[in-house]
Amino acid sequence: MSRIPSLNELRARLVAEQLVARDITDPQVLKAMGTVPREKFVPDYRRHLAYEDRPLSIGAGQTISQPYIVAYMIEAMQLDGGEKVLEIGAGSGYAAAVLAEIAAEVFTIERIEELAELARANLATVGITRVTVRCGDGTDGWPEEAPFDAILVSAGAPKIPETLKHQLKIGGRMVVPIGDDPTGQELIRITRTGEEAFERTHLTYVRFVPLIGHEGWEPDVT
Ligand code: SAM
Repeated sequence: MSRIPSLNELRARLVAEQLVARDITDPQVLKAMGTVPREKFVPDYRRHLAYEDRPLSIGAGQTISQPYIVAYMIEAMQLDGGEKVLEIGAGSGYAAAVLAEIAAEVFTIERIEELAELARANLATVGITRVTVRCGDGTDGWPEEAPFDAILVSAGAPKIPETLKHQLKIGGRMVVPIGDDPTGQELIRITRTGEEAFERTHLTYVRFVPLIGHEGWEPDVT
């Protein structure tokens, strides 16, 4: 009879089979993904699915992203370790927890109050203290804490959010899904190379829930 794998084994398997096998190579990202207990960020009734290769519902019509996409986006932020980072779309708090394993300070914004509370509770459960969660429209960024070394936008924007671009340090990077179809986007990296100079790099194609706000979609987008 086969033994049920432990959660540590499932996490190690996720790193090997879903990340390394698909060319995620950044050692800090692999270590962080192998450390954060994803099962603590999914609802109890979906806990048995926590290490599957897919997004999962977290309530309020929103999702915790597929582990591979979280790792891919964080790798694309090109973090060395010790940075000040902003995330838009806290959701369950999982991506913020992974970021906190690498960065010095993480600020994350969630527009749905119930999910902002959920993210705070999940992060407290796993003992992560380097993340500050705020409820609000993330397209406004976090002016009091700007500028940031890197910004992760965890929802699909209709176009590049100008306010967020200007909250990057010179040399800072923003990874953001964009496109005029709210159900599928191009993932790009914007690098701020000067006061008003930005470089755009195509990364891949993704499917995110819409970014809703002043510089995002209207709330009734489908
Ligand atoms: N990073 C999350 C995690 O690890 O669980 C998953 C993010 S989920 C794919 C996208 C989240 O973005 C949703 O929770 C949604 O409510 C949030 N969102 C959408 N528009 C937003 C906005 N303007 N500001 C902040 N959060 C927003």
